[in-house]
Amino acid sequence: MPQVQTRERQLEYTDEVAEATEHIWPKVEGSIPRFEWEMKAPLIAEINRLKEERDAVILGHNYQVPEIFHGVSDFTGDSLGLAQQARDADAEYIVFCGVHFMAETAAIVNPDRTVLIPDLEAGCSLSESITVEEVRDLKAKYPDAPVVCYMNTPADIKAESDICCTSANAKAVVESLGSDRVIFLPDQYLAENVASQTDVEIVTTDGKCIVHEQFTADQIRAYRKQYPGIEVVAHPECSPEVCEEADFVGSTSGMIGHLDEAESDRVIMVTECSMSDNVQEAHPDLELVKPCTLCPHMKKITLEKTLKSLQEIQHRVEVPPEIREPALESVERMLDVGRS
Ligand code: SF4
Repeated sequence: MPQVQTRERQLEYTDEVAEATEHIWPKVEGSIPRFEWEMKAPLIAEINRLKEERDAVILGHNYQVPEIFHGVSDFTGDSLGLAQQARDADAEYIVFCGVHFMAETAAIVNPDRTVLIPDLEAGCSLSESITVEEVRDLKAKYPDAPVVCYMNTPADIKAESDICCTSANAKAVVESLGSDRVIFLPDQYLAENVASQTDVEIVTTDGKCIVHEQFTADQIRAYRKQYPGIEVVAHPECSPEVCEEADFVGSTSGMIGHLDEAESDRVIMVTECSMSDNVQEAHPDLELVKPCTLCPHMKKITLEKTLKSLQEIQHRVEVPPEIREPALESVERMLDVGRS
């Protein structure tokens, strides 16, 4: 019988665990081998039990592994959807199975709850690519340009900005400002992709997502050759050359929504690999070709760390009031714009 040792006790795949998790197995059986499942199921059952005991909700990003996405998350989605869920959460604890800037955003929009992240090292290459000093320098250089910051930024950058955006609403946010020129931070590719769809002049920096920057237009052409008729769906954090090769470009939620209207029964989602695993169950008739590019930050979050987070109420994510208040204004302005 598979056994997992946790800090407090040994967890086993018992009949009780099997019964508590049997509704989850059909959602993950395409991506988790049975023997692995019997190691993971006791952790899932224990997390779900403890979640109720502690009055906690788990928010799981689309790039989380299937056992977290389907197994323990109460709400799943992209950074915008999860920010909205965090704002409305009334549980005592919000456990964020995502990366640090997302947990910070939860703490910004819902300061009355305790926000936890299972691993403080779950960062983001975009979030780490910009400093407050750089934002201030740009503001001094372009005093008439409002600052739009991508959600993938730390709280102090949000506090320096006029409004946030996500890939789901970047163009709408840029155009909502009524300015001929905006500073758009810190994702160069997203900025260039937005610039190609609007008349607003975009000033940007050179941040990149370490997952999406890996894709190339040559790779996309090679996929098309290998899988004739394949539909290519790409995330706008990819380079403009990759986006030009794609049949559809959209945010994580936009890409998922597009699967309902896919014109081919074979689709490649040019984004983080786990997303294909997580949406496969809802689209059994589609063959999802996976470019196996994983986000090392998202993958720092595991079932074991999520359980420990609930057991020991760690790691708390807090934002000091002098940063939280201006950051909240930026996030709220974005939530008012909604999705494009
Ligand atoms: S996938 Fe890219 S943008 Fe998303 S958390 Fe990882 S590094 Fe950051």
